[in-house]
Amino acid sequence: MMNKDYILRGMAFDEHFRVFAVQNTAAVQKARDLHDLSPIATLLLGRLLSAAAMMSWDLKNPKAEITLRVDGEGLLQGAVAICTAAGKLRGYAHNPSLFLDEPKDNFLTGKYLGKGTITTIRNDAVKTPYSGTCQLVSGEIAEDLAEYYLQSEQIPTAVNLGILIDKEATIRAAGGFIIQQLPFADELEAEQLRVNIQATPNVSDLMDMGYTIKDILDKFVFKGIPWQQTDEREIEFSCTCTRERFANALMLLGKEELSTMVDGIEPVCHYCNTTYTFNHNDMINLIKQL
Ligand SMILES: [Zn+2]
Repeated sequence: MMNKDYILRGMAFDEHFRVFAVQNTAAVQKARDLHDLSPIATLLLGRLLSAAAMMSWDLKNPKAEITLRVDGEGLLQGAVAICTAAGKLRGYAHNPSLFLDEPKDNFLTGKYLGKGTITTIRNDAVKTPYSGTCQLVSGEIAEDLAEYYLQSEQIPTAVNLGILIDKEATIRAAGGFIIQQLPFADELEAEQLRVNIQATPNVSDLMDMGYTIKDILDKFVFKGIPWQQTDEREIEFSCTCTRERFANALMLLGKEELSTMVDGIEPVCHYCNTTYTFNHNDMINLIKQL
C-alpha cells in the first residue's frame, strides 16, 4: 500500500499503548487543489485531515463522522476537517488564500492562528453528537491535539503530524501518528517510547525518502519495542455532498423563501467547492414539491 492513502492501528508493549497512523499525501493534495490553498492553509488543513483520519478509528457506527476544527483570532482563522467511519475525508480552510510577505512565515500556523481553540465533534449518527474543546497551546496542531487528549480525556498522548510541500504546491508527503498510553503502561515503557519519538526524524521527510508510515513505526518509533499492527484501511478525500442533498436543504427553507429565488441559484459546497446549478425550472419544481 505504498502510494495509496491509508490508516492503520495497532498495539505496543503488550497492549499498554495504542497506536494510530496515517499516510494521506493524495488527500492533502486533493484538498489543496480543490480549494486552491496557500502553503500555510495547506499545512493547517492537511494536519487536521491527517488527525481526523486517525481519529476515525474510534467511530463504531458506519454512518458516524468525526469533525476536528480549529478556530483562531489570527489572520489564518482556522479550518475544519471531517472523516467518516468509512474513511471519506473532507474539509476546508477559513482563509484559503492567506500569503505572508515574509517567506518563512508561510509555514508558521501557530503564529497566524493566534489565540484560539481546537474542537472535536463525534457524531455517531444515533445519539446527540459529543463535542469537546480545548485552548490552543501552540497552534501547530500536533501539540494542541495532545493537550486536548490530556485535558478532555485524561489520556497521555503523543501526536506527530508532518506535511512536506514543494515550491510548485505539490504535496511531497503527508502523514503522522498518534500514540496513547493506557492505564497499565509503566513509566519505563513510556520513557523508552519518548526517547524513540524524539530520535525519529521528521515523518514527512522520511516518507519523501520512500518510507511508508508502517516502516517509520517499525524502524524508528518502535525500534526495539514490541508492537503489532492490528488492522488497516484505505482512506480518500471524497465529499459526501450530492445534488439531492442540496435540493433537500433548499426545500427546508420553505415556499416563501424559495419563491424569492425563482431566477435560479448556484450553491457551492464548502467542503469540496462543487457548484450545483438550480435554474428557474428547477426552482419551480422544488416549490411544486412543497
Ligand atoms: Zn461537497
